[in-house]
Parts: sequence; C-alpha cells; structure tokens
Amino acid sequence: MKTGRVIRSMRIVPREEFMPEQLKGYASVDTPFPIGCGQTISAPHMVAMMNEALELEVGQRVLEVGAGSGYHAATIAEVVAPSDGDPKHWGHVYTVEIVQELIDRVKKNLSRIGYADRVTVICADGSKGYPEKAPYDRILVTAASPEIPEPLMEQLKVGGVMAIPVGWHFSQDLMVIRKLPKGEVQRRRLCPVMFVPLRGELGFKE
Ligand code: SAH
Repeated sequence: MKTGRVIRSMRIVPREEFMPEQLKGYASVDTPFPIGCGQTISAPHMVAMMNEALELEVGQRVLEVGAGSGYHAATIAEVVAPSDGDPKHWGHVYTVEIVQELIDRVKKNLSRIGYADRVTVICADGSKGYPEKAPYDRILVTAASPEIPEPLMEQLKVGGVMAIPVGWHFSQDLMVIRKLPKGEVQRRRLCPVMFVPLRGELGFKE
C-alpha cells in the first residue's frame, strides 16, 4: 500500500535528471544504476518503500545519509515540502555525502529542477549524522551499515522514525526503527536489501 503523497512525489520528481547522461533513457527502469565513483542511484521501488516506511509528513525535518545523485532526497522534499504547498509550512531535507566528487553534481541536479531551497547538501561523514541541525523527525541511511550508528539514534527525535539497511557488505535487512519515550526503541525488519557499503568512522572498514 502506498499513500497518495508518496505516489505523487514519485510521479513529480523526474528521475532522468539524476541519471548519468548516457543512461538517461533508462530512467523508468526500476533498478539501481551506476552514477560514478562506485556509487548508485537507488531503484524507484526502494525509494518509495523507504519513504512509505518513514511515514513522511509535510513540515518534517529529515536527515539522509548518502546523497548519491540527490534523487531520493528530492522525492522526500516533495513530500515534506510539496511544490504546490505553502512554503511557510515546508519541512527540510539535510542530505550528507562523503564523496566530494559527487557534491557539485548533486547540488546542480537539485537546483536545476527547483529543490535547492528545500534540500541542503553537506559534504561530511554521515555515519556520525549531522548534529548541527539535529534533532530530526526522520532519518534514512541509503548505504549498508554494519549496525545502527549511535549518533543517529541520538539525533532522532522521540517519536521519530529511522530507515536503515543493517547487515554485511553484500546483503542487509532494511530496518525501521522508532524511538519511543523513556529510551525505548521499536525495531521492525522490513525486507532483505542490497545497498553500497556505508563508509566513514562508523561504517565498514575498507
Ligand atoms: N540516495 C542516493 C543513493 C545513495 S548510494 C540516491 O538517491 O541517488 C549511497 C551513497 O552513500 C553513496 O553516494 C556513498 O558515497 C554515500 N556514503 C557512503 N558512506 C557515507 C558516509 N559515511 N557519509 C555520507 N555518505 C556516505
């Protein structure tokens, strides 16, 4: 089941704008594609599934670890800060990318199609989150993590939800974590997934 908001965002955000030049013709194919530097743009079904699991709402502050092409961040922005909504009620997406060479392209992709004011791109090690703008209503990690990094739990609001692939290099479980009051945490295993590895201090050691 997909909510109207998620379906609408998938229709509105043009995936081809985030694909490498020579692959643009394949934008509607529901699979990941290489974007350079050994990284990938996620498959649309994975983006929709994660956004659905995150229970996104207008006005939320969201942290994404792993900007990649910027595609996933744009779909989230379209839900938390819809193009046809009142900017006074817009939420915001902070997306962190560790590979410096990808940063310029992400920024260009997002500003070309009008999301630069709703998505902030930061070059940093997102395995430690982005404490400068914490706490977040929602956090998603779009790289495979050996475990749930503690700083991300700390930066999630009480009542907040995090989606993160947890496992080893080549196969993980997509985990949906809800932070409850009094330090309690609810964990749900959604499905098996395959993401590129999380790097940085709390990611996989090379
Ligand atoms: N969400 C992206 C797909 C991401 S692929 C999209 O829609 O296109 C995973 C990304 O995570 C890669 O670009 C990789 O460089 C980045 N990454 C890996 N480890 C990271 C870390 N510690 N901090 C920030 N980004 C990281």
